[in-house]
Formats: sequence, C-alpha cells, structure tokens
Amino acid sequence: MYPTNRKKTFSVVPGLNMGLFAPDDLEKLLQIINKYEVPATKITSAQRLALLGMEPEEMANLQLELKQHIRDIPVNGVTYVQSCPGPEWCKFGIRDSLSLGEKLEQISMDTPFKAKVKVGVAGCRMCCTEPYVRDLGVFASKKGWTLIFGGNGGNNARIGDVVAEGLNDDEVLVLAKRCLTVYQEEANPHSRSARFMERFGIDAFKEKVL
Ligand code: SF4
Repeated sequence: MYPTNRKKTFSVVPGLNMGLFAPDDLEKLLQIINKYEVPATKITSAQRLALLGMEPEEMANLQLELKQHIRDIPVNGVTYVQSCPGPEWCKFGIRDSLSLGEKLEQISMDTPFKAKVKVGVAGCRMCCTEPYVRDLGVFASKKGWTLIFGGNGGNNARIGDVVAEGLNDDEVLVLAKRCLTVYQEEANPHSRSARFMERFGIDAFKEKVL
C-alpha cells in the first residue's frame, strides 16, 4: 500500500524513450528514487514515469539529478510521444515506430504550441498507441506510414483526419512539421488540434500542407 498525500507535488519524467526502459535506465532511476525516498511512482497513460508525493525543494534537486540520465526534449516541442515497441519487439510490427517516435519527439517550433500536442506512433494497423485519437498520429501498413491529424481522446473526443498515406520516415517528418506549423499559425489561442480541425476542415488543411 502506498502512502497518499494530495498536498505534495508530483513530477512526470520525460525523455525516457517512450516507455522503453533498458535495465541500465531502470537501475539509475531506482538509485535516484531510493536516494530521495520517493513515496510512489507510476507509469502514466502517456508512457512516462511519474514521481509522486514529494516536497517541492526535494523535487527540484531530484529533477537536477535526473537530467543527467534522460535525453533533452526541445523547449517548444510536442507534449509527449507515445510509441509502440515496433518490429524489433512485436511480431506484428511493420515499421520502426520507436525510431520515428524519437525523431518526432525532437520536432521544435519557434514558439510554444497553443495547446497540448500529443503524438501516437504505431508500428502496424492495430494502432496500439491510439494514433486516431492523438493530435498527431502515425501508423504503419505495408504501403508505408499513414499520418492523421486532429484526434482527441478526451471528454470531447474526436477521430483524427487522415492527411496522407504511403509515406516514408522522411516524408512523415516533413509533413508533421507542416501540419504543426499550420496549426500553430491558424488555430485560436488555447485551441487543441481537434477543435481547430473541426473549424478549419480537412480539405482546407490538406491544401495547405500537401
Ligand atoms: S501497433 Fe502493431 S507493432 Fe505496435 S505493438 Fe501494437 S501490434 Fe505491435
């Protein structure tokens, strides 16, 4: 049984390779978790690690120490990337979702996004990372990658629009940046991509990005 204390802080650890932990990563994390006596840890729905129930001063020190063990995330980048294990670890995998996810995670804009941008990458049509309900979703088929934009899995859920199919990795990266740029330029302040796409429309959006 874990202790609970809602007054204390929590922190989510990004830069952990979309939930894929090597034994070394786990060992380093465990050392830090034990050193700071973190009361509870949780794998979040976004495939990240949450450290729960710490005092703010302790949390600041812990974050500094963690920084040495996780990769840098761009300042004006996406909120998170979920990626499935892909063909190296899953028998259904067609394309390397982890590698593409890592590249998408490094997309950087000139200014912060107007709202959260969540990304899901799946290595086959089973879509385990739910790309149809992510702001930016990508899944693999034998034809190549399919790119989806404007999905949302929240309480006003929306299935995203298919923007293009049959893409290779480089084409996904170029198109993803274009989609995010148009969203950045045209969306209302604080508007998630789902609300933006409802207003803007997939036809007008495709005209801009393709
Ligand atoms: S999306 Fe496909 S490749 Fe990825 S974990 Fe699911 S079944 Fe495996």
